[in-house]
Amino acid sequence: MQKIIIIKYAELNTKKGNINLFLRTLKQNIEKILADEKITISYDKGRMVITLLNDNYEQILEKLQNVFGIHEIAIAYDLKNNDLEVIEKSLNELLKNKEFQTFKVVSKRSNKNYFLNSQELNKHLGGYILKNFSNKKVDVLNPNLTINVEIRKTTAFIYFEKLKGLGGYPTNTLGKGLLMLSGGIDSPVAGFMAQKRGVKIEAIYFESPPHTSDMAKEKVISLASKLAIYQGNIKIHVIPFTKIQETIYKNVPNNYLITIMRRMMYKIAEKIAKKNRCQIIINGECLGQVASQTLESLNVINEVVKMPVIRPVACFDKLEIIEIAKKINTYETSILPYQDCCTIFVPDHPIIYPTLDKCLEYEKNFDYDVLINESVKNETIIDTSKKEENYNDYL
Ligand code: ATP
Ligand code: MG
Repeated sequence: MQKIIIIKYAELNTKKGNINLFLRTLKQNIEKILADEKITISYDKGRMVITLLNDNYEQILEKLQNVFGIHEIAIAYDLKNNDLEVIEKSLNELLKNKEFQTFKVVSKRSNKNYFLNSQELNKHLGGYILKNFSNKKVDVLNPNLTINVEIRKTTAFIYFEKLKGLGGYPTNTLGKGLLMLSGGIDSPVAGFMAQKRGVKIEAIYFESPPHTSDMAKEKVISLASKLAIYQGNIKIHVIPFTKIQETIYKNVPNNYLITIMRRMMYKIAEKIAKKNRCQIIINGECLGQVASQTLESLNVINEVVKMPVIRPVACFDKLEIIEIAKKINTYETSILPYQDCCTIFVPDHPIIYPTLDKCLEYEKNFDYDVLINESVKNETIIDTSKKEENYNDYL
């Protein structure tokens, strides 16, 4: 019996046309995340099988739980044979030291020519266990132990426990998106959700030194690094935003500061996205959460871009967003108290129902094209894979 890891990818089955691309990418992503391990990967009929050449199961399982496109993970035994007597003998061996009172057998066949069907196998193997192990009972609803038996073409697998995978589609099967990443709670969660659909992300961060600190930037780098786990590394475009913000402050009525500032952010984001072949902008806006997220605000802000803007958390409650942030381990970093450029120059009464006419009128007060081009030209790029020592200091 060889110990193996079985990987199931349920949702991929719906992707008939692209299945080969998806499987190839999933395999590459697994190989990448397990680059330091001694393994081989093969796949057939709805399953990927990892054979380990050492005994590093715990570590490998942990890493696999960070791979999108995996629905379920099981540590299994490959019997290298699907004869019924071999299955019985193996069950005998495996159940000998297991503690359980009640059980059920769940059989599956990918080899439909096998001489027993799944029902017959369940019945036969259940009977075999009852006969060979005393004091055990069948309980199909709530068993202590579920015994999974999978009949493959030339072999059979047995396993007892399944771990839930991350689900979604393998990263890098759907092109690139640009995540507007602030230091807050929402945008990292938005990024994670886009990654889950197979989008590889780059990030854009607007900084306004000296009003915003290096600590705020390091916080963003640390958040990006947490998302980088799912795709290897993340490129962060850091955009100097001080001059634009100060100019807006001098030239725009107080209640429109935030609206115009956001319009400028989006204009820059679209330019950076196009330059880097990102096809969508991803943003952490949430309907109704603040003044700039009313439907009127979203309309006049969104008006400056043609590119699709995806807002994965738009319809979530804050508590639901926080729950995901905790799961993906970004929450503790997000709540560190460094000022973001959105929290400086905040007016007492930002407009809740801005109009496009007013925005266009106020934007005539300054030459934003020149400022935007200057900001884009002066971007700095940080790659999470090259920043490790520094950002860790701030965690
Ligand atoms: P978050 O918790 O993600 O900061 P928020 O609830 O604080 O969101 P806002 O500050 O209004 O909301 O920002 C809305 C979205 O705009 C953010 O989720 C993010 O996508 C983007 N954003 C805001 N500030 C920045 C910034 N400095 N750099 C990049 N993107 C930003
Ligand atoms: Mg914010």
